[in-house]
Amino acid sequence: MSSARTYQVRTFGCQMNVHDSERLAGLLEQAGYARAADDAPADVVVFNTCAVRENADNRLYGNLGQLKPVKDRNPGMQIAVGGCLAQKDRGEITRRAPWVDVVFGTHNIGSLPVLLERARVAAEAQVEILESLETFPSTLPTRRESPYAAWVAISVGCNNTCTFCIVPALRGREKDRRPGDILAEVQALVAEGVLEVTLLGQNVNAYGVEFGDRSAFAKLLRACGGVDGLERVRFTSPHPRDFTDDVIEAMAQTPNVMPSLHMPLQSGSDRVLAAMRRSYRSERYLGIIDRVRAAMPDAAITTDIIVGFPGESDADFEATLEVVRAARFASAFTFQYSPRPGTPAATMPDQVPAQVVGERYQRLAALVDEVAWAENRRQVGRVLELLVAEGEGRKDGETQRLSGRAPDNRLVHFTPGGTAPRPGDLVTVEVTYAAPHHLVSDAPVRAVRRTRAGDAWQAAQERPADAARPAPVSLGMPSLPTS
Ligand code: SF4
Repeated sequence: MSSARTYQVRTFGCQMNVHDSERLAGLLEQAGYARAADDAPADVVVFNTCAVRENADNRLYGNLGQLKPVKDRNPGMQIAVGGCLAQKDRGEITRRAPWVDVVFGTHNIGSLPVLLERARVAAEAQVEILESLETFPSTLPTRRESPYAAWVAISVGCNNTCTFCIVPALRGREKDRRPGDILAEVQALVAEGVLEVTLLGQNVNAYGVEFGDRSAFAKLLRACGGVDGLERVRFTSPHPRDFTDDVIEAMAQTPNVMPSLHMPLQSGSDRVLAAMRRSYRSERYLGIIDRVRAAMPDAAITTDIIVGFPGESDADFEATLEVVRAARFASAFTFQYSPRPGTPAATMPDQVPAQVVGERYQRLAALVDEVAWAENRRQVGRVLELLVAEGEGRKDGETQRLSGRAPDNRLVHFTPGGTAPRPGDLVTVEVTYAAPHHLVSDAPVRAVRRTRAGDAWQAAQERPADAARPAPVSLGMPSLPTS
């Protein structure tokens, strides 16, 4: 039995937070902590918080309140709070929840083990928030959740000033990581068996602004194309303002860059886009989509949309519906606007009544589903290679299916039949049915390609129980209404 102190990281929020949590886990393991088993209490609980989502603070203090009696019973237990809400609320957290031991911000996640130790020795809470990032945190250790897919941060922070967004205030100005450093990480990941990387930044199209190369992102995509063994490259999130044609060309000409694009729209009304301080208009947005589809006819386009931004009229909302129809989104994350304290939009006049926001939201969600379902039906009969995902799959009556992601990132549930693909393997299937949010293949699997990622997954399963990877604890949602 290991006597190491155990930890658990609870993540709220976006992909950047999920990736930061992998770094927090890596840091704690390097410092000698062991990951707590699913059903065991942890000696250290770390909350990686998000300030973008509504009620983020209620959720955090609710969770902290539940842990108080647990900590009272286990005085050696420590609780740490990091991420965007910690950056924003700082000392407020230890005032409202004095049983918290450590508060750290978005710019100093590497300090967590030291702060925990300091809090333990000094027997008092440690609050350390830095105003800006000194260096890109690329050298921090990482404990990845998946043996076959990995996030790779290319930039942090954002130089835009969208009026609904708290990110620039909390993550600071954009810091770009050097291309050689990124590629070295990608190569190291592939050597470990990773097949798919997602390049991550608040605004990936601005990548290079810090070192003065406007075409740096297109070059990076092409360079990823030269990494042997890397099957799939994705990225998130692009910004329509900075989206240039050289990126579309690089996507189309680099075979391992996948034909999918998640490009936040936020609103289809030019008036609302201006009020959001998003410096593109619907025509430009749709123009990018046209050029992406001309270069990659099978590309799936997804988006984020906010309904009920202050001052949004019926006509503005209709303009959003128009763009949704024209853009033919494969799916969309839709959000009801609610003010985020600290953002310019929170104090704008003409806040839209909640009931109107709710009604518009229902209409938008129905249209998004209708469009997505029509787009999905066009996939029936296509033969696709899927990257098999972890998890139980889906049971429909007597049919047990596994799940995988198509190149365009669509979710496909398939019947494995006599084949036994492992998560991380690639299977070729024919789509036989389309639902609004997923596809189904009940035809025989045409081919299974066993991969090193599948081998790595299998090896992880065969490790002794205390070294196996418990399911990640994620309390957030897969995307955020930003960028
Ligand atoms: S919404 Fe995206 S682009 Fe706009 S400020 Fe926030 S992070 Fe930057």
